[in-house]
Amino acid sequence: MAFNIAIDGPAGAGKSTIAREVARQLSYIYVDTGAMYRAMALYFLRAGISADDEAAISAGCEQITVSLATENGEQQVYLNGENVNGFIRTEEVGKMTSAISVYAPVRAKLTQLQREMAYTTDLIMDGRDIGTCVLPQAQVKIYLTASVLTRGKRRFLELQGKGEPCSLEEICKDIEKRDHRDMTREISPLKQAKDAVLVDSSDMTVEEVVERILNIVKEKQT
Ligand code: C5P
Repeated sequence: MAFNIAIDGPAGAGKSTIAREVARQLSYIYVDTGAMYRAMALYFLRAGISADDEAAISAGCEQITVSLATENGEQQVYLNGENVNGFIRTEEVGKMTSAISVYAPVRAKLTQLQREMAYTTDLIMDGRDIGTCVLPQAQVKIYLTASVLTRGKRRFLELQGKGEPCSLEEICKDIEKRDHRDMTREISPLKQAKDAVLVDSSDMTVEEVVERILNIVKEKQT
C-alpha cells in the first residue's frame, strides 16, 4: 500500500511551500489539490457562469477534465487538455474557487481523481479535506495553520514581489472571508482531522516546519 501524507489548513499557512519541500526530500510526488479546484473555477469564469448558479455548475462539471502532470519537478494542471498553470493564481480565480468548491459535483469529481492517485503512489497531498475526507487512511496527517496576520503579511509580500498593488488590510479581510466559507460549508469543511498533528507555523521558519514533518514521517515509518 502506498504511503500517503495529508496536509490540510487554511489559505496562506504555507502548505504548498512546505509540502513541495517535504516531497522533494522524500522523493514523493506532491499533489496540490487547490490547483485542481482552481482549474475548475477558471473554466466557470471563462464560461461566464456565476458562482451562484448551482445548476449550471453541476452541468458544467460534465464538460470538464482536470489532469495533472509533473514537468521539471513542478506540478502542471491541465483543464480539458490545456496547461492552465499560468492562469489560476489570481485573486479573482481564488475567490471563484472558494465559491464553487462548496458544490457536491465539483468535490465528487476531484475527490475521486485524488483518491485514484493516492492509491498507487507514495505522495504528499495538500488541501482542505485531505485528512478528513479524501484520504482518511493517510499514514501521516498534518493540520498546518498560522495567524491571519501572519498569513496576510506573507500574501502581501508575495503580491508586492510581483508588482501587484495591494493592501494588507484588504488581504486579511479576504483571508478571513475565505477561511469562514471553507470552514463552514456543508460538504467537507476545512477542519483538523482527529488524528492530525497540529502545526502552527506563525513563529516557525520553513526549514523548521519541514523538519518537524519529516520527523513525524520518520516516526511512522519505523
Ligand atoms: O489551496 P488554495 O488556496 O489553492 O485553494 C483554493 C480554494 O480551493 C480554497 O480556498 C478552497 O475553497 C478550495 N479547496 C478545497 N478543497 C481542497 C483544496 C482547495 O475546497 N482540497
